[in-house]
Amino acid sequence: MSRLNNVVIKLWLTIIFIVTTVLILLSATLVTFIQSYFTQETEDSLLKDAKRISQLVATSDNKATAVEHSRKLIEGPVGLIIMNDKHMPNNNQDVTKRKMFKEIKSNKDYNRVFDEGKQISEHVPVSVNGQQRTYVLIGYPSKNLNANNEKGNNYSGVFIYQDLKTLEDTNNLITIIILVIAIISLAITTVFAFFLSSRITKPLRNLRTQALKVSKGDYSQIVPVNSRDEIGELSRAFNTMSSEIQQHIDALSSSKNIRDSLINSMVEGVLGFNDKKEIILSNDMAQNIIQILDDYSLDKLDRQKELTLKDQKTQFEEYEINTRYFVIITSYIEQIQPDGTSGIVAVIRDMTNEHNMDQMKKDFIANVSHELRTPISLLQGYTESIVDGIVTEPDEIHESLSIVLDETKRLNRLVNELLNVARMDAEGLTVDKKVQPIDRLLNKMQLKYQKLALDLELSIDLNPNTDGELWFYDSDRIEQVLTNLIDNATRYTDPGDSITISCGETDTENILYITDTGSGIAPEHLQQVFDRFYKVDASRKRGKQGTGLGLFICRMIIDGHDGSIDVKSELSKGTQFIIKLPKVNTDK
Ligand code: ATP
Ligand code: MG
Repeated sequence: MSRLNNVVIKLWLTIIFIVTTVLILLSATLVTFIQSYFTQETEDSLLKDAKRISQLVATSDNKATAVEHSRKLIEGPVGLIIMNDKHMPNNNQDVTKRKMFKEIKSNKDYNRVFDEGKQISEHVPVSVNGQQRTYVLIGYPSKNLNANNEKGNNYSGVFIYQDLKTLEDTNNLITIIILVIAIISLAITTVFAFFLSSRITKPLRNLRTQALKVSKGDYSQIVPVNSRDEIGELSRAFNTMSSEIQQHIDALSSSKNIRDSLINSMVEGVLGFNDKKEIILSNDMAQNIIQILDDYSLDKLDRQKELTLKDQKTQFEEYEINTRYFVIITSYIEQIQPDGTSGIVAVIRDMTNEHNMDQMKKDFIANVSHELRTPISLLQGYTESIVDGIVTEPDEIHESLSIVLDETKRLNRLVNELLNVARMDAEGLTVDKKVQPIDRLLNKMQLKYQKLALDLELSIDLNPNTDGELWFYDSDRIEQVLTNLIDNATRYTDPGDSITISCGETDTENILYITDTGSGIAPEHLQQVFDRFYKVDASRKRGKQGTGLGLFICRMIIDGHDGSIDVKSELSKGTQFIIKLPKVNTDK
């Protein structure tokens, strides 16, 4: 900011200007008045003297003596000329007096003193010894002093003159004094005006400093309020204003924070577009999804936005990107922007799980139909061959009936698992945990699978030594789990393979390891084998087909025990399922 734009300097200069003007006017008036006053006073006093001399000479018997006395009394700074008439000869020795004589004779105004008896006072410039001087010359009429005068001039004249130089000197001195006083006053005023203007403008300058800080976003500034005048009120209004701005900003930013955290914590992606289809709002989820959209999907989204803006109606579109499925719902929003223009809000929902679930259900229905049709057609074929008498030999009939029995069991198993899942979905799983030895159950499993193992030429060891340890579990449910796991193992093993169960523990958990040396599960399927209806087609063995529900039910049961089930597997090396059950004292 330039110095002259500083408010202190401006005020200061203004005060100096006003004071200077006033002082100049005052001094000029004073000087003029004093000069004219002194001149007037001098003229009046000379006039009085002239009058007195005139009267003295007129009333005196010896006029010559009177004139002589008067001359002695008055002459010095003042000169006296007494003329009987205007024709009196000029025989004065004194140069000044001679010049005055000449002036009286030549100036018509002074003739009027003799002719008309008038008083005349004039300033007469006279050059004495080469110096120009101004004299005041007073003419006063007097009764004819010369009694013998026959020609009879009406009046004689008493003339008094004085050099104005002493008066001018006095005037000059007074002028100098006035000017010195004026200059001193101006100097004092200048100093005081500076302090005054900086004091008056101090609150304003404070206000300016705080206002600059506020403009930079620091709203905590408080201006000190020291007066009750307009500036004080301004400061108070400023303080109120900045605290209100602060409150508004706090309110806005807290509502923005709430909005942001709400939008960011949403599982769905949210995008806001303006009327030019540019993104004005987005959450993390939406940004992640937008990044994986390919060119085709971006084009499709663009068309969807256009349609939404045009129809002003909500649009739904499905997108498939790298085996992931999304639904984008775009809605037209009026006045989404501060300038009142409308835009679009898009909600992006990841439908991959739902889509996979749908797909699984479809597969499941296809599978179930297939599973049902195969045993039913087998049952039909074998029973028909017996009923129609095609098979007659007892051995053949026995073989057919055992196939019928097998298929009936498979049908029964299938229907039971479906019922189980349906019941669990409807009612939730009930688990009736008890503290009981685990070896009882493991022994049972060993007996249950002994015959099958022999048939399949597998070596099984399902009953490790547990020293009668007490575990906390629902015997029927865990039996169901182990049955499914061993059942699976028998299906995905070849003759010569082994299936074993071993135990372990941590401080808080009892652990069961169900290990087989079978075909194993490919890594890409490992995470999904516990999903409902999930089956790894490629690993199907022995022609027995499952429903993909076994491991799903296992996990539900183990979850019901507050435990966990996990799987490790390597293709063509084998599979291990790990079941962890909380110990009794930790299950509170
Ligand atoms: P269900 O048990 O309902 O008759 P399922 O046995 O096919 O049908 P799950 O028990 O859930 O279904 O098993 C899911 C899939 O996991 C199986 O289809 C199979 O591919 C794979 N799997 C399970 N256990 C093993 C194992 N021990 N070895 C290799 N693959 C296995
Ligand atoms: Mg199974």
